[in-house]
Amino acid sequence: MCSIEGKMGNRDYSVRQLMELEACTNCQACADICPAVSAAEDGELSALFRMKGLKEILKGRTGLFRRIFKKQGLSDEAWKHFSDTAFRCTLCGNCQGACPVGIRLKDLWLSLRQDLVHSGFYPKKINMIKENLEESRNVFDEDNEERADWVEDMRDPPADGYVREKAEVVYFTGCTAAYFPIAQKIPMALAQVMDVSGVDFTLLGEDEWCCGFPMLGAGLMELFREFRDHNIQAVKERGAKEILFACPSCYQMWKEYYRPEGLRLSHASQFLVNLVKAGKVPLKELDMTVTYHDPCDLGRGALIYEEPRELIQSLPGVKLVELPRNRRDCQCCGGGGNLEMVDAKLTAEIAKAKIDEILSTGAQTVVTSCQQCVRTMTTYVKRNKISLEVLDITQLVHRALEH
Ligand code: SF4
Ligand code: SF4
Repeated sequence: MCSIEGKMGNRDYSVRQLMELEACTNCQACADICPAVSAAEDGELSALFRMKGLKEILKGRTGLFRRIFKKQGLSDEAWKHFSDTAFRCTLCGNCQGACPVGIRLKDLWLSLRQDLVHSGFYPKKINMIKENLEESRNVFDEDNEERADWVEDMRDPPADGYVREKAEVVYFTGCTAAYFPIAQKIPMALAQVMDVSGVDFTLLGEDEWCCGFPMLGAGLMELFREFRDHNIQAVKERGAKEILFACPSCYQMWKEYYRPEGLRLSHASQFLVNLVKAGKVPLKELDMTVTYHDPCDLGRGALIYEEPRELIQSLPGVKLVELPRNRRDCQCCGGGGNLEMVDAKLTAEIAKAKIDEILSTGAQTVVTSCQQCVRTMTTYVKRNKISLEVLDITQLVHRALEH
């Protein structure tokens, strides 16, 4: 935990958020449904605990409250403890979905992280994220010129590496898919499906910078704005009408925080189901029983539940069995909210609960629509030698491709 002198203040919260804090009825619904609470068996990781702590912090800062109750701020020790619980959260949004009074808890957690960074109480690794992004434009501190190098590992890479001056569609890959070997199979699959289906698309190559999601989760809003403006400009220069995302977090960032005018935003599951329906994807018969894991940002975040299911069921010979907790009730895989960076053990414990639930369906394969979910679940099954295949939905379509 890092402690630097900061500008503590309530300005990181909107008026709506300050009012919402007062609406909490202490019903505990958010605690009962939280994957971090159940995996760690620690009630202090719940939204309820965080709401109470946040109220205390905010009240301790206001002049009137301090004058009347002679309230002092939290001690450094209490700040550190509170911050620790706030960052041990996957930002899955399950608590928000469960809250009977409709408090927008996920937004509140983002504002809280921003506040904790401003106040100087945050995990040291956040400094690393900031430095990586400032220096390399991606969260892993890789050379950004190598962002589209995964194309060279494809079976028949095109001479232009899919980086073109102009195209109808820009495929925004995101940092994880660009650099992580497990996740690189996703852009490879999607690019090949689009190629075979005759889609006019381009990558941004080194002009693609991180979408900004890790900055929001880390409370680095100011840095985010610079990246957002750069990315919008890079897409506009390609003359594209549509931006395609296989990463739900990138998609969410563009939809909620970029909001570019005149550009259609599509997640790969939506884009591919339309391609298949239009008869543009040549498909062969598979023989598979799969289950589907709704990624938090695509499901509860963007309310995209049906297109991935429609896509899976449109593939010949693929049978879909649902998880006991699906759609808005789907449990996080453990990979969200920068949690792995702060507490990898908790990520693994949440992943365990997820994999146990998947195995209970009897499916041989779990399909999802997010490279971070693929990475988290693949890591868990490999480490624990579990016989379960983990695929992104783009990989499933690629497997069904007749080429
Ligand atoms: S966002 Fe998810 S992990 Fe975080 S407090 Fe809410 S339910 Fe728990
Ligand atoms: S579910 Fe909502 S109202 Fe209930 S304790 Fe949690 S934040 Fe408060």
